[in-house]
Amino acid sequence: MVVLRCPCHEGAQLWGELWWTGGEYRWVFFDDDRRSETYAEEVERCPACGRRLERKEMARV
Ligand SMILES: [Zn+2]
Repeated sequence: MVVLRCPCHEGAQLWGELWWTGGEYRWVFFDDDRRSETYAEEVERCPACGRRLERKEMARV
């Protein structure tokens, strides 16, 4: 598990885990903002800017 942040730097922190699903590894991201409605839920897009989350674009916190 790694703590990550969207490149927009406006959203809350997220955490990412590398999961083995469907015969391939993929990054799964979760909302790490306790004030957020989607806290601890899987998110595919940044809650702040709506950008689709890509591990290589995200900064490690
Ligand atoms: Zn964002």
